[in-house]
Amino acid sequence: MFNKRVKVKDLLASEATGQEVTVMGWVRTFRNNQFIALNDGSTNNNLQIVVELGMLDENTLKRITTGASLKVTGEAVPSLGKGQKMEIKARSLEILGDSDAEKFPLQPKKHSLEFLREIAHLRFRTNTFGAVFRVRHALAFAIHQFFNEKGFVYIHTPIVTASDAEGAGEMFRVTTLPFDNPPRNEDGSINFKEDFFGRSTNLTVSGQLEGELAAMAFSEIYTFGPTFRAENSNTARHLAEFWMIEPEMAFYDLEDNMNLAEEFIKYIIRYAMEHNREDLDFLAQRLAEEEKALPQDKRSEMGLIEKLEFVMNNNFERITYTEAIDILLNSPAYKKKKFQYEVKWGIDMQSEHERYLVEKHFKKPVIVTNYPKEIKAFYMRQNDDGKTVAAMDILAPGIGEIVGGSQREERLERLTERMKEMHIPVEEMWWYLDTRRFGSVPHAGFGLGFERMVLFVTGMTNIRDVIAFPRTPKNAEF
Ligand code: ATP
Ligand code: MN
Repeated sequence: MFNKRVKVKDLLASEATGQEVTVMGWVRTFRNNQFIALNDGSTNNNLQIVVELGMLDENTLKRITTGASLKVTGEAVPSLGKGQKMEIKARSLEILGDSDAEKFPLQPKKHSLEFLREIAHLRFRTNTFGAVFRVRHALAFAIHQFFNEKGFVYIHTPIVTASDAEGAGEMFRVTTLPFDNPPRNEDGSINFKEDFFGRSTNLTVSGQLEGELAAMAFSEIYTFGPTFRAENSNTARHLAEFWMIEPEMAFYDLEDNMNLAEEFIKYIIRYAMEHNREDLDFLAQRLAEEEKALPQDKRSEMGLIEKLEFVMNNNFERITYTEAIDILLNSPAYKKKKFQYEVKWGIDMQSEHERYLVEKHFKKPVIVTNYPKEIKAFYMRQNDDGKTVAAMDILAPGIGEIVGGSQREERLERLTERMKEMHIPVEEMWWYLDTRRFGSVPHAGFGLGFERMVLFVTGMTNIRDVIAFPRTPKNAEF
């Protein structure tokens, strides 16, 4: 059997001293023709392999280069070096795959995140990305565990959709029509009846509408899948392809919705703190180093671990949109004309406004509720004031909007009225409106952008660095 190996993480946590073990992994460094730092991705900790002088021939020694893969069998012995309790005294060493040291782009030194993005196929093999992707995995797992414990049903909503009603963003078209000569109608427009699905289709921007249908049977559901937005916003917080978690709950009002979202965020942070502490400590240190280069006023007030603990242990601030605008209008920043964008009731708050509320004013996550109906989607429940809807956004320090949600409009009349006002094709949405025709109930839900959550927990600052192969305008490499 080839794979009778032990993973480095398990080995370092074990009491294997004195036993013979087999390990496999990739060389990070090789010093003095004697000491190999081997990493297998199970942990950021490298395992030290000691090669006795004279054990390997000259040629084999030359092939132990950064990036090469090895199979090593030997005795686990107490380590004399500092920082590690155990190392392997090699008895046999096999090179599984060579790595030309001249050509291998990852050198044992610090590379910039920008450079690593260009070699995203190899960046998994760095400490930073090792930690980021293990934390990402843990968060994904925690999300399923959270909802599973609460009895939510995981629904897979379609990736290809014909509905363009959500209005959450620009969409990517899905078609098999030849784009040099598509079939046309008499008036010259493209004849989508001849397209694969017999109609015009797109990649989904959200699974919410379909999620609502399922919530009308299971009471509580969630989706966790890819979503696509062809928005040409080249920011550090937007991707063209990102993952979203969208719970949808029958018999919930806006307050129930906020409570769930807050509990959910705290739960998954706690899970990562309990299961990925080493990686988070590493990322905290990385962030602290990075911030040393920044001017004092650009540095975070808290370290990463402190920030996560703070979020876990404190209630989120809850304010209405109207209160938020008042705070902004009365802020020193506004009076000193520090905001680039206008502030007045009715605006769609810009990132600078959200970050002021969270980072300067409250210094904690903030849930903003009851937004003007003009800037929110048609399905949000209309409040009695005639001006606002029962929406809630959660704003996080360093990120801005991390969650967008609302109580949904369950009253058929009010909903269709609003759809007409917003020019949403009511007939096409017959299936959605059926939920309001047959046993409609108060319900609510929200969407959490998974990568924004990963950004928050890892302390990374660019969303391109928390998804394996980012899709952004003009970039779909790998
Ligand atoms: P923003 O104002 O930041 O563009 P949005 O209002 O378009 O967000 P929603 O439509 O409410 O966002 O989507 C729900 C969640 O999905 C957001 O709270 C955010 O966490 C995430 N999200 C939205 N757009 C993107 C994107 N392009 N890339 C990554 N995550 C996103
Ligand atoms: Mn957006």
